[in-house]
Amino acid sequence: MEIPSSLINIAEKVGNDITLVQGPGGNISYKNKETMIIKASGKKMSDARKRNIFVETDHKKIISAIENNEADPIKNSWKEDSLMRPSIETTMHALMPHPYVLHVHCVNTLSWIVQKNYQNNLNIYLEDYNWISIPYRKPGLSLTNELKEPIKKSKANVILLSNHGIIAGSDSAKNVFDIIKSISKKLFTGEREKKKVYLKKLEKYLSCNKYKLPKYEYLHQIAYSFDHSKIATQGTIFPDQVVFLPNGIKNINTFEELIELVNNRGDNIPVVIINNIGVLVPNNSTEVSEDILLGLFMTILRIPTNTSINYLTESDISDLINWDMEKHRQMLNK
Ligand SMILES: [Zn+2]
Repeated sequence: MEIPSSLINIAEKVGNDITLVQGPGGNISYKNKETMIIKASGKKMSDARKRNIFVETDHKKIISAIENNEADPIKNSWKEDSLMRPSIETTMHALMPHPYVLHVHCVNTLSWIVQKNYQNNLNIYLEDYNWISIPYRKPGLSLTNELKEPIKKSKANVILLSNHGIIAGSDSAKNVFDIIKSISKKLFTGEREKKKVYLKKLEKYLSCNKYKLPKYEYLHQIAYSFDHSKIATQGTIFPDQVVFLPNGIKNINTFEELIELVNNRGDNIPVVIINNIGVLVPNNSTEVSEDILLGLFMTILRIPTNTSINYLTESDISDLINWDMEKHRQMLNK
């Protein structure tokens, strides 16, 4: 099946918008008759025009496998010689009845859906939309199973996935993009006022040779808000934080604390927030992990400080760690 040019255009546009997707996150799909085209696992939406990032799947087969509660509903649903695997979120896209489906990790939306009991507060902002929300579930099949009944019953075309993101469906790529973008705009209720950052103050900390300045200068802002840096260091608010920032984030006040951290943690040093000074990332931080960190801090700095946060539980986190290992294993076997 030919890939509609609108799908490629919108994928690229979404991929270049860091407030919507960070790293390989987010995905888009198109269904026609019994076929569904979806972004491949690990590919970046921003690359949509440069190279093929899409895989063709057998939609009918996936839907019946989900209905029959099969362990791996996407098994044998795509041409394995394509060397690309359909996204881990393929089953979620398959359940949505709309021809075009877009899923993103929008920071404006996330700043709400990581809060406890956010649903009531959102009614007024989203009154023009046919939306529902569902509790956090591990991305993949657990999330798909949680979505089965609500999608059948509600006929909603916008679903908020707690502590994860948003998914929307429509009849064209442009319409589904417009829905997501307009919701993102509505849910932006402000962020912390920006402070001037004095990078010179970080030189002393950089002399330990294990850390570097982050790619995005914006990240330093969190160091100037004790309440927000507390949110960043007290728990995990979304899955990519576990997968891409496995050594966590730590608050420190002095150079001595940094040296102690380096001595104790060896190669597994966390991102550090130096209170009222700035943020440093480990020397070996990848571009993807810095993008995820930016998404995380953009989300946190949009959260009002008087709300309580719904952190992922210990068991949610250990499921994600095992899941990440499973993903690696599958990739090595391909
Ligand atoms: Zn996602």
